[in-house]
Amino acid sequence: MKVLVTARLPEDVASLIEREHRVEMNHEDRPMERRVLLEGIVGKEGLLCSITDRVDEELLACAPGLRIVANFGVGFDHIDIDAAGRRGIPVTNTPGVLTDATADTAFALILAVSRRVAEGDRMTREGRFKFWAPFLFLGRQVSGKTLGIVGMGRIGQAVARRAAGFDMRIVYHSRNRLDPVAEETLGIRYLLLDQLLGEADFVSLHVPLTLETRHLIGAKELRLMKPSAYLINTARGPVVDEAALVEALRNGQIAGAGLDVYENEPELASGLAGLQNAVLLPHVGSATVETRTKMALMAVENLLAGLRGEQPPNCLNWSAATGAKRV
Ligand code: NAP
Repeated sequence: MKVLVTARLPEDVASLIEREHRVEMNHEDRPMERRVLLEGIVGKEGLLCSITDRVDEELLACAPGLRIVANFGVGFDHIDIDAAGRRGIPVTNTPGVLTDATADTAFALILAVSRRVAEGDRMTREGRFKFWAPFLFLGRQVSGKTLGIVGMGRIGQAVARRAAGFDMRIVYHSRNRLDPVAEETLGIRYLLLDQLLGEADFVSLHVPLTLETRHLIGAKELRLMKPSAYLINTARGPVVDEAALVEALRNGQIAGAGLDVYENEPELASGLAGLQNAVLLPHVGSATVETRTKMALMAVENLLAGLRGEQPPNCLNWSAATGAKRV
């Protein structure tokens, strides 16, 4: 069958598809342009895509024979799952294998922003480090502080496990409260979102992007945070109202922010890049050699199962896809 792979894959992983199918692959380490994507999908039975590809009605209409959309990533807000389901197309993602890498990134941002790692690095490189001094580059302690986790799923829980090693108090808010045994094991306490925002020294976001979570953190929520608190976002950019965040950082309403994702990626909100109290990463939450290899393998397994007409291991819409009449 004919397959379009929009994300560059490790060669040995790509060969697993090539053994059985005719593959057209984006060999460049950059997203495919929309026009090229829409042309490339024509006549394909399989699509292995990444978070930078918008998989919507327009794209699906170009490939009436499509049997599977296998996403290279866990977040799937860029895919119109309902539209795929209506066309009988299973959609898959790669949950779990990127949990640790993304939790590590969240923790890297917690430490970097509170201990001013990026700022200190810039100062040292620029030759402005002249002497040790008692008040030079004071940050704020992480150990012993209160961490507020919003979205207590796979990555939220992995962040909680890391925070325990820093003797942090951990409070959380999530759509559904965890059972008491899980709460006790993780050492976490449930709070309403507003309460969490008022108590936490670090607020770390781990919800998916949905209609409910878009701008979950806006001007009102930022006002509830302590002036000494930090906001960490490794979830999705639009979960935060980025213009409101810039205002809050500029006015000292909160102490700082550590961001891996942006509302209009790769654009940054006006003024964000000039703020010293923000640490900015280029959406690299899961970017380790080990994790990206596992993600690629998982996406390929899902793709191959979908092409065989079997239920893929990580299918997000199996009942919708199998219940639907193909259009
Ligand atoms: P997950 O296991 O599904 O966890 C998400 C958690 O958020 C679940 O506990 C979910 O509650 C909760 N949630 C959903 N809607 C909510 C709402 N409206 N209010 C409060 N809580 C809500 O997903 P995950 O694997 O941890 O990944 C989380 C997200 O991280 C992904 O969706 C993706 O967008 C992002 N991510 C980013 C990177 C990166 O490179 N920066 C890498 C990986 C993932 P329920 O249990 O009730 O569903």
